[in-house]
Amino acid sequence: MCFKSCIAYTRPFENLESCPECDWSQWNEENLTKSTGKKKVPERQFCTFSLANEMLYLHREIAEIQSKLDAGEDIQTYNDIMTGSELLNALSSGKIKDTDILFMQSLDGVQLYEDKKSDSWIIIYILFIASPALHYKKCFVLPGAIVSGPNNLENMDSFLFPGLHHISVLQKEKLRVWDALNKTYFDYNVSGCDHNDVSTEDI
Ligand SMILES: [Zn+2]
Repeated sequence: MCFKSCIAYTRPFENLESCPECDWSQWNEENLTKSTGKKKVPERQFCTFSLANEMLYLHREIAEIQSKLDAGEDIQTYNDIMTGSELLNALSSGKIKDTDILFMQSLDGVQLYEDKKSDSWIIIYILFIASPALHYKKCFVLPGAIVSGPNNLENMDSFLFPGLHHISVLQKEKLRVWDALNKTYFDYNVSGCDHNDVSTEDI
C-alpha cells in the first residue's frame, strides 16, 4: 500500500512504481539504493483476513486434535469447545461431522434499569465454525430471541421452541457451500448444542 495510505497496489495499481495520488514510491528507497534497484521491499503493507479461512477454523482444529488423539497423545490445553469430550464423542459416534455448522444457543436474563423491575430475556447464537477470537465478537453473535418481562420465564422450553424448530427444519436438508479456498463443495449440516444457565429441573 501507499506509505500515506492513498491506495493499495492491487489490480489497476498493481504495476505502478509510485502512488498516483501523492507520488510516494511503492518501494523502500534505502533498500532500492543499496541493492542498485534490485531489492524491491514494499514501503508499507496492510493485512487481509480470508473469510473462507476463518470459516474453516473448526474443521481445521478438529482434524488437528483428532490426529493427536489417534497418535495416542493427550489433550494438553482445554482452550475451546473441540477439546471437550462432549464434542469429541459426538464426532466419533457420527452424530455430527467436522464440516457441520456448529453453534451454541445461549440464554440469560438482563435487568435493563437499575432501580426498576425490568427483567428481559435474550437468546443468542454463537457460531463455533469461527475461532474464539471472532465468535464472541459482537458482529458475529447472532440474536435468537428477545422476551420482555416482567416475570421469570416459567416454561422456558416454550420460548426456545420457535428457534429450535427453525433449526430442525434446516437440518432436514443440507446446505451446499462452495469452499473457494480448497476448491471443493461442502455439504453443511446444522448442529446445535444448548447452553443456558438454568438447570433442567428449573424448567
Ligand atoms: Zn499516496
